[in-house]
Amino acid sequence: MTRRAVTVIGAGVVGLSCALVLAERGHPVRVVARETGAGTASAAAASLWAVPLVERSERVRAWAYATLARLRRDAGPETGVREQPARTVGVAAATPDPWLRGFTPPLREATAQELPPGCRVGTVASIPLVDTSRYLPWLRARCAEAGVDIERREVARLDDGGPAGDVVVLAAGCGSGALAGDDALRPVRGQVAVLENPGLTRTTIVRDGPLAPLFVVPRFDDVVVGGPAQDGVWDPDPDPVLERELVERAVRAEPALAGARVVGRAVGHRPVRPEVRVAAERTGGRDVVYCYGHGGAGVALSWGSARAAADLVALR
Ligand SMILES: Cc1cc2nc3c(=O)[nH]c(=O)nc-3n(C[C@H](O)[C@H](O)[C@H](O)COP(=O)(O)OP(=O)(O)OC[C@H]3O[C@@H](n4cnc5c(N)ncnc54)[C@H](O)[C@@H]3O)c2cc1C
Repeated sequence: MTRRAVTVIGAGVVGLSCALVLAERGHPVRVVARETGAGTASAAAASLWAVPLVERSERVRAWAYATLARLRRDAGPETGVREQPARTVGVAAATPDPWLRGFTPPLREATAQELPPGCRVGTVASIPLVDTSRYLPWLRARCAEAGVDIERREVARLDDGGPAGDVVVLAAGCGSGALAGDDALRPVRGQVAVLENPGLTRTTIVRDGPLAPLFVVPRFDDVVVGGPAQDGVWDPDPDPVLERELVERAVRAEPALAGARVVGRAVGHRPVRPEVRVAAERTGGRDVVYCYGHGGAGVALSWGSARAAADLVALR
């Protein structure tokens, strides 16, 4: 059977995963993207197998678990994927959310010694880390091996994406709204500082209290510190005052970080939408498959949603 040629717009974790799944299923695939690393939300993500700021539904749960299985299969220093302990701490006990059950296995209460200053309660779990400073280059290399070319350019309109007969997969994160004429998509800005790693191996997430919001995520070569989720804010430049505050709070939560140099910084815009848009449409004489709106969970949903998008391409 001849498979339709596909142009994927976007080379973040979602676009690259779509491209790889489609290429592995036998489609000729090209990717067109303005950025392939810095400048994407995927590169700014810490990132954990976690599902904040995204639609809560059974299909999202299924995509998360499908992704987890694939991430576990690929885990290792080459991909930047590993399991690591994470403490989630705060002042008040978290209200249990039935939908989130199962996303942080296995779970135990944090001991008093595991609580940072100002925190009174917490849990410890093993949460998979996807170090995107390794994972994105690995995905790009897998795409290249599968024959996928990545062209660096801005796309102004959907029909500017690629040759007329191609199915277009729109996976442009926050850039998808303008291309699809979709007002339901909005950016939720995140800012991170990247610090030297003094030997930390445990993630810290502070939910509430004086240190919140904060995450401290040790990766293979460094530590990512971030926290605030700024709704509707487009500013692409790191705010130095926010960075200082984040680093100070991180040092209070993890004193071993005192004196660690800041070796990088990034801003990323989470593509938030009431529902992740995985759908197909014929528009402007083109077959288009949408795959965007993954909110704060694009890494955790990447393989599952890419397969769902590829299933829709197969029907065009
Ligand atoms: C601080 C922070 C922490 C996060 N933590 C986590 C986490 O722990 N776990 C998790 O799963 N997720 C996390 N996320 C969310 C995750 O990063 C996003 O959901 C995910 O990166 C979205 O991927 P994407 O490929 O859709 O978008 P992006 O990575 O932004 O990629 C979009 C692509 O489209 C291209 N593009 C856009 N517009 C155009 C255009 N007009 N023409 C050509 N190309 C275009 C861009 O250049 C880029 O290549 C975090 C995000 C942030 C900011």
